[in-house]
Amino acid sequence: MSNDFKCMCCSEFDNIKQLLDSKKCVTVTTSFEKIILDEEILNITRQQMIMKTKNKLKKKQLSALEVLNKTWKYICYVQFTHWVNSWTSLGKGIRVVIPTCVINKIRNKYLEKDGLYMGFKKSNTHLPS
Ligand SMILES: [Zn+2]
Repeated sequence: MSNDFKCMCCSEFDNIKQLLDSKKCVTVTTSFEKIILDEEILNITRQQMIMKTKNKLKKKQLSALEVLNKTWKYICYVQFTHWVNSWTSLGKGIRVVIPTCVINKIRNKYLEKDGLYMGFKKSNTHLPS
């Protein structure tokens, strides 16, 4: 077990710093919302991942009719990595570590309670009149 895992906020990463515009945290930027939290955009990434992957289980999970929250989370992390990398000069071998604030933001969006799927569950409650 490695103990060098640190809780790091996005502002501690040089390559993420430049994405912050005037904000203190990348998760509150308009770009983050647009790129990482918009499921229409994530769906495009999902399609690309389905086409690229050679892993049958991964392909099956990604192409499921009801995509699991844990799959969406995985797609978000991939998307975030692509986004950050697209602003990083290539060939430097920079490894993208996902900052804690980003992980928390994504986890909060795709909550998993007791492993139950919470996504498109039909609600029995009445709409407010
Ligand atoms: Zn942050």
